[in-house]
Amino acid sequence: MIKTGVLNFDVKKIRDDFPILREKVYGKPLVYLDNGATTQKPKIVIEKLEEIYGKKNSSIHRGIHFLSEQMTEAYEEARDTVRKFINAESTTEIVFTHGTTSAINAVTFSFGEKYIRENDEILISEMEHHSNIVPWQMLCERKNATLKVIPFNDNGELDMDAYRKLLSEKTKIVSVTYASNSLGTLNPVKEIIRIAHERSVPVLIDGAQIVQHGEVDVKDINCDFFVFSGHKIFGPTGIGVLYGKEEVLEELPPYQGGGDMVDCVTFDKTTYNELPYKFEAGTTHYTGAIGLATALDYVGSVGIENIIAYEKELLDYTASKLRAIDGLTLYGNAENKICVFSFLMDNIHPYDAGMILDKLGIAVRTGTHCTQPVMDHYDISGTIRASMVFYNTFEEADMLVHGLERIKKMFEK
Ligand code: PMP
Repeated sequence: MIKTGVLNFDVKKIRDDFPILREKVYGKPLVYLDNGATTQKPKIVIEKLEEIYGKKNSSIHRGIHFLSEQMTEAYEEARDTVRKFINAESTTEIVFTHGTTSAINAVTFSFGEKYIRENDEILISEMEHHSNIVPWQMLCERKNATLKVIPFNDNGELDMDAYRKLLSEKTKIVSVTYASNSLGTLNPVKEIIRIAHERSVPVLIDGAQIVQHGEVDVKDINCDFFVFSGHKIFGPTGIGVLYGKEEVLEELPPYQGGGDMVDCVTFDKTTYNELPYKFEAGTTHYTGAIGLATALDYVGSVGIENIIAYEKELLDYTASKLRAIDGLTLYGNAENKICVFSFLMDNIHPYDAGMILDKLGIAVRTGTHCTQPVMDHYDISGTIRASMVFYNTFEEADMLVHGLERIKKMFEK
């Protein structure tokens, strides 16, 4: 165990905020290293949802009674909390969705409907999550457009020369991830956006794996769209965010029709609500939005600079320990990374390793992590993935390493 040099960061105290981290599995303390899939929730978020359902619940926007007005106010405050968190200019730019996947699908339907034509090109990268591949493929099928792919090198870093060459007159949008969920790579998104904008091509950034690890400033990186999920940043599941620059969203048609997204409905003609409501059809997940805002406030109270500094130490420590295991191959060795480790051990199927780690109380993920093309790049069927956040500890990294050493010995026999 090493002592962290990070100031203002007491990981023991932070862990007390997360009730589930005190749970045992198979009688052993839970070591939760599957944060790339979903993160655990602090007490304050759990209590907020209990408070809403126990004392305050009411449908938003449509009621004139006390509860409805109170809930509407809390929902709109949540929107402002999201705005501040990602440093957007205005709340009109913040659309609540069900998550990253539904936000990307919203863009593929709305932007796709308006701007994509036959023979146009859409540029994504080889390291995208399936949810930033398949919706674009479906759009290409609908429109007879073509999907182009920016490759990455064996370290897991995007080939920026290839990117420049792939951008063409035909490119109508670029959509890439800020951080890879299976390789951990932190992409140079600001540079990617700058290059695309030189050709007036808009850029969508998949923020699903950055919000819980680093600072996001949509104005600084200058993206046109930014999407993320609440459940990956210590908030409720079923809620997410689509950020879009106001001038971009203003021009886009709604992609779903229903209540709340309309201004005036007649059988002859319907007019639509203003931003951001024209993209929020039906009763939204308002409890989730308020829970998400509570989670974002919680992250703010921990301090994003503390999180970055602590996770950097945890990353370096865990990577060096894993690299010291003979026969272990780490996939994703980019210079800039989040605290995600994808690896394989010689002659051991990842599923077997994952099952044994589980019996030791250690929750990891095995398989393709919804990034099959990443696995194809390395010609492997899957990896073991340990993904850490700021409530994970150096002791837990040691426990993972110890578990892997034990598995190695078992398979050597
Ligand atoms: N993109 C990335 C990079 C992800 O890691 C994930 C979730 N693993 C998604 C998109 C999809 O997120 P959700 O399932 O919350 O919509």
